[in-house]
Amino acid sequence: TFESSMSFDEFKLNSDGMLTVVTQDYKTNEVLMVAYMTKEAFEKTVETGIMTYYSRSRKELWTKGDTSGHYQYVKSLTIDCDKDTLLAKVEQVGNACHTGSYSCFFTDLVKKEYKDDNPMEVFQSVYDVIMDRKKHPKEGSYTNYLFEKGIDKILKKVGEEATEIVIAAKNPDVEEMKYEISDFLYHLMVLMAERGMTWDEVTRELIERK
Ligand code: AMP
Ligand code: ZN
Ligand code: ZN
Ligand code: ZN
Repeated sequence: TFESSMSFDEFKLNSDGMLTVVTQDYKTNEVLMVAYMTKEAFEKTVETGIMTYYSRSRKELWTKGDTSGHYQYVKSLTIDCDKDTLLAKVEQVGNACHTGSYSCFFTDLVKKEYKDDNPMEVFQSVYDVIMDRKKHPKEGSYTNYLFEKGIDKILKKVGEEATEIVIAAKNPDVEEMKYEISDFLYHLMVLMAERGMTWDEVTRELIERK
């Protein structure tokens, strides 16, 4: 399927004679697992477009997913600065971890609270809450009130909030604009949820316009 611009012999291997591989979800960049490749594993991966490692415990070539069906389809392979670690971006089928977890990295040893400041993740998580309300209505929820009122009410709110952004933008203080943009985006997402449109569809369209 693919052709590598470097051969395995150019890489710097660890003391076991293997190449360390970090595997990421190609969409979210979530780190899924770390494993190792021999020359044979690397070449098979490039040839087939499916991640094949070398299992150090079983001492054999290991095409991830061969027993579980949880294959990893290669999107890109990138070698690091000193050529000792391969970064693989993949489309993961099912879960990367044999425990059933999507990623192998779920055991926090140290954790400092931090705000989730990846903009797209914030949009997606708010959208997920809205969709969850649609599926499981919650007592006293404003989102459910909008869904019950229906599409015309939602459209009216989207229009109002858009107008409020225009008005707020004339104010030299940008604080107000921030609130109105947030109001607008929330109502826009309620509309998206009502019509069954996902952020994925919108972002794909935007990327295609670049
Ligand atoms: P699979 O390659 O997903 O069909 O799984 C086959 C076997 O490989 C499992 O039974 C585990 O022993 C091992 N295995 C699968 N995924 C992982 C992983 N992410 N990390 C370590 N071992 C794994
Ligand atoms: Zn390195
Ligand atoms: Zn695991
Ligand atoms: Zn508003």
